[in-house]
Amino acid sequence: MGEISNGISKKEMKIPEIKFTKLFINGSFLDSYSGKTFETIDPRNGEVIAKISEGNKEDVDLAVKAARQAFDHGKWPRMSGYERGRIMMKFADLIEQHKEELAALDSIDAGKLFAAGVHGDIPHSLNLLRYYAGAADKIHGETLKLAGEYQGYTLKEPIGVVGHIIPWNFPTTMFFLKVSPALAAGCTMIVKPAEQTPLSALFYAHLAKEAGIPDGVLNVVNGFGHTAGAAISSHMDVDAVSFTGSTEVGRLIMEAAAKSNLKSVSLELGGKSPLIIFDDADLDMAVSLASLAIFYNKGEICVAGSRVFVQEKIYDAFVKKAAENAKNWVVGDPFDPRVQQGPQVDKQQFEKVLSYIEHGKREGATLLTGGKPCCGKGYYIEPTIFTDVKEEMMIAKDEIFGPVMSLMKFKTIEEAIEKANATKYGLAAGIVTKDLNIANKVSRSVRAGSIWINCYFAFDADAPFGGYKLSGFGRDLGLNALDKYLQVKSVVTPLYNSPWL
Ligand code: NAD
Repeated sequence: MGEISNGISKKEMKIPEIKFTKLFINGSFLDSYSGKTFETIDPRNGEVIAKISEGNKEDVDLAVKAARQAFDHGKWPRMSGYERGRIMMKFADLIEQHKEELAALDSIDAGKLFAAGVHGDIPHSLNLLRYYAGAADKIHGETLKLAGEYQGYTLKEPIGVVGHIIPWNFPTTMFFLKVSPALAAGCTMIVKPAEQTPLSALFYAHLAKEAGIPDGVLNVVNGFGHTAGAAISSHMDVDAVSFTGSTEVGRLIMEAAAKSNLKSVSLELGGKSPLIIFDDADLDMAVSLASLAIFYNKGEICVAGSRVFVQEKIYDAFVKKAAENAKNWVVGDPFDPRVQQGPQVDKQQFEKVLSYIEHGKREGATLLTGGKPCCGKGYYIEPTIFTDVKEEMMIAKDEIFGPVMSLMKFKTIEEAIEKANATKYGLAAGIVTKDLNIANKVSRSVRAGSIWINCYFAFDADAPFGGYKLSGFGRDLGLNALDKYLQVKSVVTPLYNSPWL
């Protein structure tokens, strides 16, 4: 751990004490019903950080019972939106007071850059919590002018008990992406963090209680997908599941919902997003956007710009500069403020990424730079770029979820659009050009839920986010996300002696 920058002191870079390891159910930290625990591992060195209570079906049952009781009889869904918002604001303030400790938990659990947590994930999550806190007293239906002698109105009611099943790549952001609108809507919930990253969610549950969120409203059950996760998605008393994760597991969740109580499902799934760079682009800007789009968070981002299409006139210059940039990209301990890329989340992910790199080489792509493990112990991989990538290669088709860029050349705007759309996914796309007409045409032609023009990862609480095609359905973020957590009821009464119809 080197020098101090970004306002991070040496003291703050200290490895945090692990205060919470049990399940959080009905306002208390509990051992699991089976008494079993699982280990969570520090990807910087493969060492065990802590033993975490392992939730199973019985624990999910208990959490759902608490959430059901809190929904059917508790204060949260019945209090005014204003009051819910006030408590959510307090929750945000408490998180702010602990942001270094929380960011450090995600760094040791997920290998995320500490500075990115303090200056990115946590402020972004606070924005989400405060945005939806502000929306909590603005949820309302409509009045309806009905045919004949009737009048009507709609009520927006909280959907009930929600299961949030989330992945490991953004443990904090994913937690608040799901929990914030659901809390604002008046729902009660069970969060199932990913088994790789159980730590920060438990701290958030503790702070939620301190802020005044009533017992049973927000429960956290750590555990494995095929046990705890499956128990949530097949539970008869869970009214909705909001899932972020892989397309394969998304299918299992839909099946479980279909076979149980037809609960409402929303799925934010994988991606293979294109970044399209046109000849008129500023080269330096294009290279730094492309590097950020694939190397940020070690490529463990559903919207990573993993397929980079560069127009032919600037292709050679782009390749040269992108290679230089990747070679200078600093990989290492996520607490070191000079570092731009930490370790992959775990051994499995590390091996998966390396095996894709081997596939790329075997299939005939040219390894321009990177491709090897690095930085000694821990799950570190060099920033990697392939050229001569063909659309049918696995590295161009599959979501690698690692720091591996596939570079491809194109001639015309039509060709770029066709290639960008030649994927089963549709989560995001980036366009780099100074030509507004090109930007407009491409953004309307690419089938993806988020389009970033001359920028990348430009997330905002107010900008809806979600997928087309196998990237799923439903939208997180924005006011639209509230709809996932609301039911619409229409109420009709006769209307007698109205002065007009
Ligand atoms: P994953 O699908 O393996 O796991 C996600 C969550 O689902 C975890 O909590 C896991 O325990 C749980 N799970 C696993 N099997 C389950 C089952 N049978 N029933 C219920 N729950 C189950 O995904 P991951 O490896 O944790 O995350 C990487 C994937 O997530 C990538 O595909 C990535 O693109 C996707 N992702 C998507 C978005 C998005 O917003 N679209 C964001 C981040 C990650």
